[in-house]
Amino acid sequence: MDVTVVGSCNVDLISYVPHLPKPGETLQGSKFSMGYGGKGANQCVMASKLGASTAMISKVGKDTFGDGFIKNFQDLGVNTAQNSIVIVPGANLLLNSDDLSKAESFIQTSKVVVCQLEIDPVISLAALKVARQQGSVKTVFNPAPALPSLDKEFYMNCDVIVPNETEAEILTGLPVQTVEEADIAAKRLRELGCKNVIVTLGSNGCIVLEQSSDGIIHLPAPSVNAVDTTGAGDSFIGSLAYFMSKRPDLSLTECARRAIQIASVSVQYPGTQTSFPTQDKLPEQLF
Ligand code: ATP
Repeated sequence: MDVTVVGSCNVDLISYVPHLPKPGETLQGSKFSMGYGGKGANQCVMASKLGASTAMISKVGKDTFGDGFIKNFQDLGVNTAQNSIVIVPGANLLLNSDDLSKAESFIQTSKVVVCQLEIDPVISLAALKVARQQGSVKTVFNPAPALPSLDKEFYMNCDVIVPNETEAEILTGLPVQTVEEADIAAKRLRELGCKNVIVTLGSNGCIVLEQSSDGIIHLPAPSVNAVDTTGAGDSFIGSLAYFMSKRPDLSLTECARRAIQIASVSVQYPGTQTSFPTQDKLPEQLF
């Protein structure tokens, strides 16, 4: 595999409403839609849509949503051979170390492994460690949703950590509202043991602190007409994993520069996975 993701699968139920309802208020929405989501699944689908060979290690419920999810992965070319199906809701939290051992070969033979925190963090960390032991596998860690007291081993077992502003604030206890503040937080994350740090900054793009350098680079995002930014971070991370696996000749900064272009396309369309562009919709020179 180019990219293996160990993470979550959720079904998003989306109502478009004029404002958030107050407690007790009944609101009429203008539109309802369902979409396949979960940070893990989104990142995996993004890498797959760009043309990476991908595998998803996850658990889904044995219900209509779970069945639909597997079909969605199959339609998008994501390898699901190792998925387990169980009958209870909240299946994401049931992915356990036995499941991980069964799927270990995917991790060991991947170029890049991506983890988040929407499953049991113990399993995410175990997956990062399995990848790390392999030597040749690069690990990307998206600490989302962020935990204030994250096990330090996460920092030491990832090649690249990719928080957004809020996650960087929670992990470091520092404010991260500006590029300058993101720089300080990135340096703090490096002190905590991370080799390479990328902090995504929404319409401000991202900053990159590479292991090989003390200088932080700010990569601005193109100015676009953003209609729905849901999943922008997942689009960025899936694209980053794609470039890290397919273009080992590029620096991390260059991979991030290209991932920003792709995430900025995704925000111009509604939905999450449906807004992620396929390779044929993107400029050739990105690849
Ligand atoms: P989400 O939680 O919605 O998935 P996030 O908070 O994890 O997103 P962001 O930092 O908001 O992630 O965005 C990730 C990337 O998406 C940015 O680095 C940028 O490339 C792109 N992006 C996000 N919002 C915009 C925007 N308004 N205009 C252009 N690009 C954007």
